[in-house]
Amino acid sequence: MTGTPTVAIGALGGTIASTSNATDGGEIVPTLSAERLVAAVPGLGEIAAIRAETLAQLPSPSLDEPTILRTLGWARAVVDAGARGVVVTQGTDTLEESAYLLDLFWDRPEPLVVTGAMRSPQVAGADGPANLLTAVRCALASVSRERGVLVAFDDELHQARWVAKTDSMSTSAFRSPVFGPIGRCVEGEVVYAVPAARVPPLRLPPGQETGDPRVPLVATYLGDDGYVLDAIRAGGANGVDGVVIAGFGAGHVSARMAEAVGRMAGRVPVVFASRTGSGPTGRAMYGYPGSEIDLTARGAVGAGWLSPVKARLLLWALALHGPVPRSDLAAEFELRGRP
Ligand code: ASP
Repeated sequence: MTGTPTVAIGALGGTIASTSNATDGGEIVPTLSAERLVAAVPGLGEIAAIRAETLAQLPSPSLDEPTILRTLGWARAVVDAGARGVVVTQGTDTLEESAYLLDLFWDRPEPLVVTGAMRSPQVAGADGPANLLTAVRCALASVSRERGVLVAFDDELHQARWVAKTDSMSTSAFRSPVFGPIGRCVEGEVVYAVPAARVPPLRLPPGQETGDPRVPLVATYLGDDGYVLDAIRAGGANGVDGVVIAGFGAGHVSARMAEAVGRMAGRVPVVFASRTGSGPTGRAMYGYPGSEIDLTARGAVGAGWLSPVKARLLLWALALHGPVPRSDLAAEFELRGRP
């Protein structure tokens, strides 16, 4: 390839773009454009021609699936126009979810890299510029191709499927608890520990870029009698398109909650995941009411190694195509819920 390669940077807001008018530097809100983020990284223009676009200026708790699907459309367009790679900057609170939603549909070999910052640009030791530089290096590297969506943070590279925000304040907030990061950026070089591989992307149904199925995530708790799940079911047939349960341990719930799961699974797809933050749902170990074997017999499907929020996004993405038959649901979680 000749000439300076182009990397497109799309900014969605978050701490990396947040500033303060207060004298004590508090009360930060997203204000900075993509151009301003780029201008804060010394030497960026020497390694790539940067095409910067401000796609939104939101705190990441207020991002939603349609905004991320619009971001996907933008990323496809810039790659089709010749960008060698794409970087999306956003708030860290929901970054693990946006990255995975993008990954489910990212159907290009070019790297799509998501990053953010834990410290805002005005404070000492702001990490945004370093993370953005790492993300651009990652997006430029030919070894990053055919890996789907990656998350660059604190010099580490993570697969979107497994990465999670695991600390509310630390600059090394991102981890891949089950399998660890797959790469690092060291002295400007992008290095991976594993060969490029990925699960095939899902097809985005035409015209569904603004679709928004309703798939709530219900966390179980000590003494759960199924009240929340039954209340959702009582909301009626038009209420939800599926439900994900964040279960105990390997995906377990109480005996009374198991009955509510059975009632719900008779109406819409129900997926059970583990709330532990690491490790898969069980398949055949426990047999008591509320265990993985019992929930499966009642019609629910285990999320495998996917965290509850990622399982929710997979079910949401499948529901874009309409009602999801249980056999398709089980097959998709079997394919996408394990390494
Ligand atoms: N604390 C968040 C961040 O790191 C705020 C947000 O997610 O927008 O960006």
